[in-house]
Amino acid sequence: MAARPRAVARVIQPTPVIEGAGVRLRRSIATATLDYLDPFLLLDNFDSDDPDDYLAGFPWHPHRGIETVTYMLAGEVDHRDSIGNAGMIGAGDVQWMTAGGGIMHEEMPRPGADGRMGGFQLWVNLPAELKMTRPRYQDLSAARIPEVRRADGAVIRVVAGEVDGVVGAVTEIYAEPEYLDVSLPAGASFSQPVSRGHSAFAYAFEGEGQFGVGGDPGDRGDLDGEPLSAPRMAVFGDGDEVRVEARGHAVRFLLVSGKPLGEPIARYGPFVMNTREELQLAVRDLQDDTFVWRDDAEWARSRGTWSPDARSR
Ligand code: FE
Repeated sequence: MAARPRAVARVIQPTPVIEGAGVRLRRSIATATLDYLDPFLLLDNFDSDDPDDYLAGFPWHPHRGIETVTYMLAGEVDHRDSIGNAGMIGAGDVQWMTAGGGIMHEEMPRPGADGRMGGFQLWVNLPAELKMTRPRYQDLSAARIPEVRRADGAVIRVVAGEVDGVVGAVTEIYAEPEYLDVSLPAGASFSQPVSRGHSAFAYAFEGEGQFGVGGDPGDRGDLDGEPLSAPRMAVFGDGDEVRVEARGHAVRFLLVSGKPLGEPIARYGPFVMNTREELQLAVRDLQDDTFVWRDDAEWARSRGTWSPDARSR
């Protein structure tokens, strides 16, 4: 059977948001327009050459029940956390943090040599059985992220997933995510298999391209292959592959996909659980100073769904 190209189901214009201690950013998931794209809970794009937009940063704060993925394009983020990690995420680096049962951390953006700071943060949901899992931290420097260079000039950085047989740097994540940074020069085209049933979006952050080329002209066929100028997100409908063309302009975009969990979500700021009761426990844990994950089955079981083999994935 021929691969079915995915059409663009929705185009999302990012919303300006002030987050943390006063960081200006653009949000595309976790807004009134698009609350949740299962399993993706939030997508923020930072891009500024004015340090007043970001220096206040994200001082010490908690997370529970999710994974946070930070991918930097320019500048850097100094960070430290309650499981003993501390360091700097620079341009081209990725931090894939599984907050699991409870982590506290600090993320403080700094300008690069050119005064610019840019990048992304994506939140990926965890299934009920892993919400209280042991926190895990994958820190990947730019040099460890494989890059695929094609004959037509396309350059694809493979953060997670697989392109032309090249496997991405981040592995063993429950949602089977694919996270690609794709640069197409004018005239190049790109197609990538994406598992049927997985949620998928592209986030154009430089230039202009045609997304969802060849998509089945169904109810939203008017959007298929339309030119999309940065910054915009294209949410794809179902199918087997995504096609993008850079006709008159170069374009750079993230292509992200993952397996939907299909579970109820209860969210409150940096906590995303399945029920309101689990959220209330998280808030009480913060007040009682019992929030941070510990290797204690009883503690974990009393704070949400927990399974013994879920801890060391
Ligand atoms: Fe955080």
